[in-house]
Amino acid sequence: MRETSIPKTKFIVVTGGVISGLGKGTVTSAIAFLLKAQGYNVSAIKIDPYINVDAGTMRPTEHGEVFVTFDGGETDQDLGNYERFLDVELPKINSITTGQVYLSVIQRERNLEYEGKNVEVIPHIPQEVQRRIFEAASASQADFMTIEVGGTVGDYQSVLFLEALREMRRVYGNVVFVHVAYLPIPHNLGEMKTKPAQHSVRALNAVGIMPDFLVARAARTLDQVRREKLASLCNMQDEAIIAAPDVPSIYEVPLLFEQQGFAAMLLKKFGLSYTAGKLAQWSQFIRNIHAAKEEIAIAIVGKYFDIGDFTLEDSYVSVIESIKHACWQVGRKPKVHWIDSKIYEKDPQQTAQLAQYAAIIVPGGFGGSGVEGKILAIRYAREHDIPYLGLCYGMQLAVIEFARNVCELKDANTTEINPSTPHPVIDILAEQKQKLADKDFGGTMRLGNWKAVLESDSVISLLYGTTEVLERHRHRYEVNPKYLAMLEAKGMRFSGKSVIGELVEFMELPKHRYFVGTQAHPEFKSRPLRPHPLFVGLVKAAISDRPHGM
Ligand code: GLN
Repeated sequence: MRETSIPKTKFIVVTGGVISGLGKGTVTSAIAFLLKAQGYNVSAIKIDPYINVDAGTMRPTEHGEVFVTFDGGETDQDLGNYERFLDVELPKINSITTGQVYLSVIQRERNLEYEGKNVEVIPHIPQEVQRRIFEAASASQADFMTIEVGGTVGDYQSVLFLEALREMRRVYGNVVFVHVAYLPIPHNLGEMKTKPAQHSVRALNAVGIMPDFLVARAARTLDQVRREKLASLCNMQDEAIIAAPDVPSIYEVPLLFEQQGFAAMLLKKFGLSYTAGKLAQWSQFIRNIHAAKEEIAIAIVGKYFDIGDFTLEDSYVSVIESIKHACWQVGRKPKVHWIDSKIYEKDPQQTAQLAQYAAIIVPGGFGGSGVEGKILAIRYAREHDIPYLGLCYGMQLAVIEFARNVCELKDANTTEINPSTPHPVIDILAEQKQKLADKDFGGTMRLGNWKAVLESDSVISLLYGTTEVLERHRHRYEVNPKYLAMLEAKGMRFSGKSVIGELVEFMELPKHRYFVGTQAHPEFKSRPLRPHPLFVGLVKAAISDRPHGM
């Protein structure tokens, strides 16, 4: 059997109770952030109890954004949160799903790696979970690893993960459990209720886990009466109950925890000392957010229907965070407007309402729904010189719009939508054709980091401040090289190409205030204190008083 050595890493496991969507990812990120601020090397794992091997095969409107790691993993959006808070790049092995765990146990059984043993759910599944955790911890050489368990305690799906973690603490030590529970304030009572949180702690106790800390998520902060009640009934010390009321920005949560001495208490559990005064830069960043009063109205034009349990913010969380980071850096307050591109399909005149926005973004996407509306919006941005940023599909559609309306290739399209278009300006990547024919969909797109070379005098190279960049990808189609000369002759500039294969990675319209598209997903690399240059470029153009068309 494959063995993984036990790393020296210390683990902080974060579970959730009462409801989903209570901000467990933010709590986990904030804990990781505070430990990093203490000078430790910190990494983060997300466990997702679904059978999908990765998030890549799930609709974002059902599951939230598919986050792409540098090494081509398609993961849960929480990895994006960890990266933004920790300012690191996490590998795909830091995302663990039920699907991956079962797949490898079954594959190993088929390879006779269990040497004739009866392979059972217990102990082999929890053992594989532990092996994966140790593997990720060793690879990162982290001092601390946070492990967020997706879902809510009491769900059948998470039991085997909790079992793995319980046993990990018993056998190896070095594990602290943080439980995040929701405390509702029912309207008719106007009073915060602790009972559901108590029950969720019992659900953890029932699988053999005594949490070390309880994070009390609620609209308001916790009062002393409830703190004592929770401490007593959940069998903890008063100070182990951490209040986590709603705050205007998720980036304030580390400060909230710091005020309650959370990091110091966590370190104490591991016998480590704590140093105060490490958050000066972050506190200044939060003050800047509060000081930014003047708004910038930014339109995200997409197809918005079928949102299910998830909100638009969940489906485009990295794009929204990137907008926020860039706006805050220029001292403005972001105001994101969601525009359903289908309204333009019904009535193209409606695009005139786009004049009220300082900038327009068309984000990534798949399939034909809402596409013609997006193309109309892009046309409006181009013709009215509204700063535009096209992300992946948003770049492909900008090329289609330009081909149709400037190069007069009337039915130009992507073969993703119309395989028999007379002008396939966007076409399938050569290596992708067979994968689609074989229905080999999972994890097979052009994924992860690809290096591009930028033309030195382009808008984008000035923004990046370099001519070589690494950006993350997730697509099957590309700009068709056969049309480059024609598009260029009419003024579209392909200012960045991939080092391998010379694929179009970036385009821009030099005569425009700001009209930039990229085949990549720069939104995955924006950080609170290091906004992404392409978003900064967009926002700066949006607030510059340079008259349109100059
Ligand atoms: N659907 C397009 C492609 O596969 C764009 C994908 C995306 O926006 N991520 O190439």
